[in-house]
Amino acid sequence: MLSIGEMSRRTGVKVPTIRFYEDKGLLQATARSDGNQRRYDQAALHRLSFIRHARDLGLPLDDIAALISLEGADGAALDRAHDIARRQQARLRQRINSLQRLEQELDRIAAACDGHHEESCAVLHAFGDHGPCAGQH
Ligand SMILES: [Zn+2]
Ligand SMILES: [Zn+2]
Repeated sequence: MLSIGEMSRRTGVKVPTIRFYEDKGLLQATARSDGNQRRYDQAALHRLSFIRHARDLGLPLDDIAALISLEGADGAALDRAHDIARRQQARLRQRINSLQRLEQELDRIAAACDGHHEESCAVLHAFGDHGPCAGQH
């Protein structure tokens, strides 16, 4: 059996975050020690590693809860995992697109001033002026 500190060391998930996952029902301590400390078995360690990796892939907690609920499922129920993967792909592509638009604005802003600064700085001015931007941020 593992303590919460050992679970944290083995997975890289901070102790308060492990408690948070327990509050959310994603993870359960297997038992309590005599001193009422949480104790975890290998299945709990595996579950926490699963949550950690899914978080690293950017999944929101409700998707992770849905994936966990698919443990032991078979057949068409597992299509849900595919849906979650595709939705996450779409979210990521949206973020990439919006970051690329930001990059273009910053390219424009960084190039706006020749550096002579006789009167003012066009870079400084551009940071405060949404007018020339191509869209919302
Ligand atoms: Zn300047
Ligand atoms: Zn703008």
